[in-house]
Amino acid sequence: SYRKGGYHAVRIGDQFSGGRYIAQRKLGWGQFSTVWLAYDTSASNYVALKIQKSAAQFAQAALHEIEVLSAVADGDPSNSMCVIRLIDHFKHIGPNGQHLCMVLEFLGDSLLRLIKYNRYKGIPMNKVREICRCALVGLDYLHRELGIIHADLKPENILLFSTIDPTKDPVRSGLTPILERPEGNPNGGATMNIIEKKLKRRARRAVAKISERRASMGGEAQKSERKLDGIDVRCKVVDFGNACWADKKFAEEIQTRQYRAPEVILQAGYSFSVDMWSLACTAFELATGDMMFTPKAGQGFSEDEDHLALMMELLGKMPRKVAIGGARSKDYFDRHGDLKRIRRLKFWPLDKLLVDKYNFSENDAREFAEFLSPLLDFSPEKRPTAQQSLQHPWLNPRNTTQNEIRNESNPGKVNVGMSNLQIKVGK
Ligand code: ATP
Ligand code: MG
Ligand code: MG
Repeated sequence: SYRKGGYHAVRIGDQFSGGRYIAQRKLGWGQFSTVWLAYDTSASNYVALKIQKSAAQFAQAALHEIEVLSAVADGDPSNSMCVIRLIDHFKHIGPNGQHLCMVLEFLGDSLLRLIKYNRYKGIPMNKVREICRCALVGLDYLHRELGIIHADLKPENILLFSTIDPTKDPVRSGLTPILERPEGNPNGGATMNIIEKKLKRRARRAVAKISERRASMGGEAQKSERKLDGIDVRCKVVDFGNACWADKKFAEEIQTRQYRAPEVILQAGYSFSVDMWSLACTAFELATGDMMFTPKAGQGFSEDEDHLALMMELLGKMPRKVAIGGARSKDYFDRHGDLKRIRRLKFWPLDKLLVDKYNFSENDAREFAEFLSPLLDFSPEKRPTAQQSLQHPWLNPRNTTQNEIRNESNPGKVNVGMSNLQIKVGK
């Protein structure tokens, strides 16, 4: 994909936006872009530089993402709403064309990595709670204040805060900013210059150090549980490439397959509540290490129909009205609201599944299922909003002294709750 219209090839030390940003190392990539850790010489800190492919449709997509991200940043001047912050954007011209670039705050690993570090065994429930709270603060902000549907919520698109702050302690973090490209080697040529090799080695060492630290935070399952306990889990919702305004949608098919809401499959119209469905799928995956639904096409039935069957096996039969209410309902359901090709469903309700398959205690299973089930209501309008979910008892457990905040003007009253963001103490 490193050709005309595709990715822009970056070398360590490359400068962007008139020299303001200097590429340090690659952070990741996606269908649309490569993402680089870059040093921001004006602000003297690190940023994530997302460099879009250059072809027209990618430029169009980047413009859309920039529009959404700008609205997200404008509405949250104090940067406290658990959503990624756009710092800057510009065009960069390279051999493959003109690339739109987004400068984003530098974050850490995705929740998908966190799940992997824990060897797909699930992460401790108190961490799942904290992550859900963060994600819900983000969704509540997007939905209620901006009217934006994220439309692609999943573990990969929720990033933890970076566990390192390279600006504060460059020695310990193993990162000192690389400030320039080696001279006399403007485009590399066939042989890599020795200095550049050195730089690469240095960057690799830094990455190795970071990986070490992350491994000590994840690593072996048992050890990691203990280590994870001490960490304040904070995270942010990222990747607004598929986000839309609820009153200005442009796609019928949204969301990544496993996190897709039933109304999207049935094409029955959608709104903010699709994100609530995906949040429940994400929370389940964090807690168990398994995706909630992994549909597969089989003999005589499609992936969509399997998906609907899996949903019903876990959540009970879909009400007939909902089942037959979508533009595509006839493809999957008969007029009684039964699936056409998958007749025998093996019901395994969520709370039982958590106990039987994932060894939850009865109590934990019931409480977690009570949080998840309403978010997985087949009727989208019955799902709680992000704001309502933030009030759910599962997120606000009793008898945890850590979460109790005394109300000083009313000493008898104890507010039990989440972050300081949500709880207003006193008057
Ligand atoms: P997709 O195909 O998922 O839409 P994309 O091209 O839009 O991909 P992103 O998903 O935004 O790209 O980013 C690609 C990867 O880069 C992410 O999965 C993540 O690993 C990394 N990344 C993105 N943004 C940041 C950030 N702000 N801080 C750290 N890493 C990031
Ligand atoms: Mg992504
Ligand atoms: Mg994207």
